[in-house]
Amino acid sequence: MAIRDLVILPDAVLRQVSAPVEAITPEIKALASDMLETMYDAPGIGLAAIQIGVPTRVVTIDLAKQDEEKTPIVFINPEITWSSEEMNVHEEGCLSIPEYYEEVERPARVKIRYLDLDGKEQEIEADGLLATCIQHEIDHLNGVLFIDHLSRLKRERVTKRFAKQARRESAA
Ligand SMILES: [Zn+2]
Repeated sequence: MAIRDLVILPDAVLRQVSAPVEAITPEIKALASDMLETMYDAPGIGLAAIQIGVPTRVVTIDLAKQDEEKTPIVFINPEITWSSEEMNVHEEGCLSIPEYYEEVERPARVKIRYLDLDGKEQEIEADGLLATCIQHEIDHLNGVLFIDHLSRLKRERVTKRFAKQARRESAA
């Protein structure tokens, strides 16, 4: 297991569409365990493989609080099979857009089909924070960021801020 570097806005890697996992190989299991370790270290509640630079459809989520027992879920090739018409607003953040938070409106409930690490097909119905989180992470697999759900003005403002920061860091 290893903690990997996070890909940060405005890195173009974040805009890549990730490819489906063809088989649950030892490499995929190692990737999932690195993702969990990286996510816990950050700390964050969700991570998509592309956020550590791997364009593969793997997502890790753990909504347990810092002092609670860990409850990791690894989603391989997750797909939204149903979303509610009812919407919900949640404040979102992203490990690739550190220390930036905004409210995003998404379907309040979703059904997700995915493979677990044993290659078994699973389906869950999610609501609340899990619904928000899994939709945010599936967006990553399609090259979409939560700031894409904001107004153009807000999106441009935060993108500019991070671009400036990246330039400063590469000049330093
Ligand atoms: Zn994110």
